[in-house]
Amino acid sequence: MADLEEFRASVRSWLEANAPKSLRGKMRDPAAAFWGGKKTKLPYPDSKPWLDMMAERGWTIPFWPKEYGGGGLSKEETKVLNEELARLELPPPLTGFGITMIGPTILQYGTEEQKKLYIPQIIKGEIRWCQGYSEPNAGSDLANIQTKAVVDGDDYIVNGQKIWTSFGDLSDWIFMLVRTNWEVKKQAGITFLLADMESKGVEVRPIKLISGASPFCEVFFEDVRVPRHQILNRENGGWEVARALLGHERTMIANTFGGRQSSTETKENPMEAAAKKYIGLQDGKIADDAIRQRMAQNQIDEQSFLLTVQRNSDNIKAGHRPGPETSIFKVYGTELNQRRQELMLSIFGPECLGWEGDGFEKNELDLPKVWLRSRGNTLEGGSSEIQLNIIAKQVLGLPD
Ligand SMILES: Cc1cc2nc3c(=O)[nH]c(=O)nc-3n(C[C@H](O)[C@H](O)[C@H](O)COP(=O)(O)OP(=O)(O)OC[C@H]3O[C@@H](n4cnc5c(N)ncnc54)[C@H](O)[C@@H]3O)c2cc1C
Repeated sequence: MADLEEFRASVRSWLEANAPKSLRGKMRDPAAAFWGGKKTKLPYPDSKPWLDMMAERGWTIPFWPKEYGGGGLSKEETKVLNEELARLELPPPLTGFGITMIGPTILQYGTEEQKKLYIPQIIKGEIRWCQGYSEPNAGSDLANIQTKAVVDGDDYIVNGQKIWTSFGDLSDWIFMLVRTNWEVKKQAGITFLLADMESKGVEVRPIKLISGASPFCEVFFEDVRVPRHQILNRENGGWEVARALLGHERTMIANTFGGRQSSTETKENPMEAAAKKYIGLQDGKIADDAIRQRMAQNQIDEQSFLLTVQRNSDNIKAGHRPGPETSIFKVYGTELNQRRQELMLSIFGPECLGWEGDGFEKNELDLPKVWLRSRGNTLEGGSSEIQLNIIAKQVLGLPD
């Protein structure tokens, strides 16, 4: 314990002395998130020095092993670091699918060479990754992927199409599922590949969506050469890797949309502030009984879920690998976020009906887009129906 307090004191004084003053107070600013890579714009001028100084200590992903550039911190030390960052309301120096999805998967399945090559680049934010799983005929039925990879010397030649590739246009590398065997059960003929988006024959086409700006892309592969040493695990051993990565993805989605928005973490609860503004107070209470009850229920649900995902995240930091039980977090967290956004619409009332223009304030124009975006929560990373199937079969052991 004394060690932990010493550690806290040293973190505190280092942050006080070094963390850019311009970023303090921006912990909850969604625009402050930096996704890394060569194509992503820096949110703020100080975001790069902030990333570099944290990466040098391995503190962009503090609990990853020191030998690959991580911080090598225990889960308790990681917690202390996060508390100290929160004290100064500093934004995380780096976010993205490298940290949340492919990094842990490379640590689990990568060769020593792959770990030494990719993990330090992820920690320093040098490459941004996208996920090439879904195809026009492979969403819920993911094992049906048809993008094919055929061996040619030391390379695979890849042909096919991916869809719903979030941030495909801003990413440097893609982790993808390809078919390498047609003669066996679908799952047994899949290989997990890492590919450079700059490779000749990769074409990225952005997709436009109902919620305005869209991160989605289609990615086309025409005779793209991918070196065979960029396989994760072994040829035709991709399904196991794909499922392990989905465990990390579902944890990330539950944390992002369900677990992080609790009132206790922010100085002012945005839902309460909105209710005071748009509904008003009567006898010191929100002046609408039904809304007040929904808000209370929402706070209870958020708070309990936050504590649960925090426990789960602590276990992952201590080396636990997320399994099928992660689907429970994914279903609950995403449905919680949808309820939260529906409630926000009820609170804003007619003030959330704007889409653009001068008649509405910024948060009023943002809300309908956030609400529409939340519709995708119960689809991305595998729909709720698919999660319920997983829970039924793999957690509860129910028959088909
Ligand atoms: C916001 C967002 C981001 C995404 N980002 C990425 C990304 O970066 N990379 C990527 O590869 N993919 C991405 N996806 C795609 C996502 O993985 C798929 O949308 C998802 O797996 C569902 O597949 P589908 O869209 O083809 O729907 P379908 O599989 O066609 O399903 C349609 C409906 O049928 C239901 N259904 C299907 N099969 C069953 C069944 N067996 N039992 C019960 N119900 C069933 C589904 O639950 C769903 O409601 C993203 C999706 C969203 C919404």
